[in-house]
This record gives sequence, C-alpha cells and structure tokens, in this order.
Amino acid sequence: MSKPTLGIIGGGQLGSMLAVAANKLKVKTVIFCDDIQAPAQRFSNEFIHGHYNDQKKINEFVNKVDVITYEFENIPYETLSEINKVKPVIPKPSVNRIIQHRLAEKDFINKLNIRTTRYASIEKKSEVSSLQDLLPGLLKTTTLGYDGKGQHLINNVEDLDSINVDFSRGYILEKLVKLKKEISIIVTRFSDKKYEIYEPIENLHEDQILKYSSIPADISDKILDQSKMWAIQLAEELKYVGTLCVEFFIDRNENLYVNEIAPRVHNSGHLTINAYNISQFENHIRAVCKLDQIPLKKISNAKMTNIIGDQIIVYRNKKINSNEFFFDYLKKDIKDKRKMGHLTTLTK
Ligand code: AMP
Repeated sequence: MSKPTLGIIGGGQLGSMLAVAANKLKVKTVIFCDDIQAPAQRFSNEFIHGHYNDQKKINEFVNKVDVITYEFENIPYETLSEINKVKPVIPKPSVNRIIQHRLAEKDFINKLNIRTTRYASIEKKSEVSSLQDLLPGLLKTTTLGYDGKGQHLINNVEDLDSINVDFSRGYILEKLVKLKKEISIIVTRFSDKKYEIYEPIENLHEDQILKYSSIPADISDKILDQSKMWAIQLAEELKYVGTLCVEFFIDRNENLYVNEIAPRVHNSGHLTINAYNISQFENHIRAVCKLDQIPLKKISNAKMTNIIGDQIIVYRNKKINSNEFFFDYLKKDIKDKRKMGHLTTLTK
C-alpha cells in the first residue's frame, strides 16, 4: 500500500520532530505555517508559507496532501472543519473545539467523573466576589493561553483591582491546587481500544514553563494506575486518533486531578525519542497515516531539560556526553522564556 502524503499545520519544534519521524517512515510531509522562518521547513519535503485564514494558500496546501494533522491546538475550529470537508483532518476538528476552550474542556472531563480542580466561568469582575471558595485561584483566559500566559493569581477580590483584564474575552477561575507534583501521560490511540501508552512522566515547571521531565515518575501505584486509566478513558471518549497528552496535578493529599488535555504531541514527551523504541512523534504519524501499530518498549529511564532563552548559547558550545541527546530547535531569534531546545539524558 502506498503511503499518504501528510500535511502538518504549524512549523515549530513539534512540527520539526513530526517531520523527522515521518521521514524515518518514508512518509512525505508538507508543512503549512504562518512563520516564514518556521524551523520545521528544514525537515519537511515541502513548505507553504501563508496565514491561517488565507484561503488560496490553504487550498494549495490541501491539494498537495492526503491527510492533515497539526502541531498546535489553537487553529480556529472553522478552519479545520472546512479543511476536513476536503481532506481528513486527524485528530478530528470536533476534538479541538472542546479542548481549545478551557471551560468546554473541563465540563467534558467532569461529565466523565474524572476530577479536575473546581472552576467557574467569569464574565464580569463582580462575579468573583460570590466565588470566594475558589480563592486563592488562577484566573485564566478560556482560550489561547499556554505556559502561564493570560493567567493571574487571585488571592482575594482586591487583587482584581491591580490587574488589567478584559473580561469580555472570557475567563475561567480555577481553584489553586496545593501541588505536590505534576505528571503527564502520553497515549497514542490508533482505533477503538487500540492504543500505545507511555508510562507517567514527572514534570517540574519554573515560572509556569516546563523545565524538567523525567521517567520514572516518583508516584504511588494507585496514582500510576488511575492516571493511565483516565488518559485511556479520555482518548476513548474523544474517539481520538493520534498522540494525545493529559497533564495532571497531584495534591498534597494524594488526590489526582486532570489539569488539561493537549490534542497533540507534547513537550513532556520529548524524552520518548531516546527512551523508547517508538517516540510519541513516530506513533502519531503511524496512527494518523494508518501505518502498523508496534508494541512500545522502554529502552531507558530518562530526564529531559528544556533549554529556554539564551541558555541555548551555553548548550551550543557544551560537550555532549554519550548518554545525552541535544536538540537545537534552530529558531532564528533567541527570546526570553522561549523554548529554544532540549537535552535528554538517559539515566539508570
Ligand atoms: P496551564 O497553562 O493551565 O497548564 O498552567 C501552567 C502551569 O501553571 C501548570 O503546569 C501548573 O504548574 C500551574 N497551574 C495552572 N493551573 C493551576 C491550578 N489550578 N492550581 C495549581 N497550579 C496551577
């Protein structure tokens, strides 16, 4: 059977790693991105530069590919849905519609009796005063926030006076979880009850940006089993195809909560490139392009360090040991708080 040509929307580091994995499987890729300097164009067979609402460019892209996936979830639902009428978009756009909106996402998770932190929709500043039991809490934009962007810690109602928030954008107030630990689970679902799941990954954030991910996660068997079960349940309920990441909180009383779902390959799963026989990227390509499902085998424990901002300069000049794997995202500009690369260390 001939392999499909894969279209990837987005050309950052996740797009690069997807294109590298596709190359290995001899799947041709076309990247569509609004950044003319998108790093992923170095690894794809073709690159189309265009804005995500440029219908002519979208048509050009769609005509060149057989199936389409994406590296980030903030593409408008309408755009994905229109594309899906011509060529299959996987994961399907309806998944994206739920997950790109924090309220819809949390409602969906809670309906399945899976725990999240308590939350409320906020449309007006005055609503917060009747929600004292959600304080201290985090006020987050319902859409388009990541790495702590668009988030404010609210300890008491007066804190609202000192922040500049346009409530018409739509906000959610989330009760602050007293965090003991954060973990994530990466699962690739191929079809009904057919999936490959990676072991839980322990994540450490600095300034709300992921800094370190490691396996094995230092967690109880109960948390291990529950997190895997919930991740599989979420993937099944969404009838998801491809790689998905579920981010979890563990509080100081050993309660597990789903923080959020990422309908895509995920930063915490970068260590799967070196620590497993098949990476999260390769599994995503396999599932989306309907290639063989191969049982996962762990090769080693591992720790991944995100290289942020100008730390990349240090790593570019550093001697890399034989158990270390350095990935430079080849971004043209070095920016503060921007993920520039990562280092995976295989550990005992
Ligand atoms: P998010 O963009 O919502 O994933 O948030 C980024 C990071 O902020 C998380 O990984 C946590 O470290 C922290 N955070 C977000 N929401 C909460 C919460 N409700 N309680 C405690 N910490 C949170």
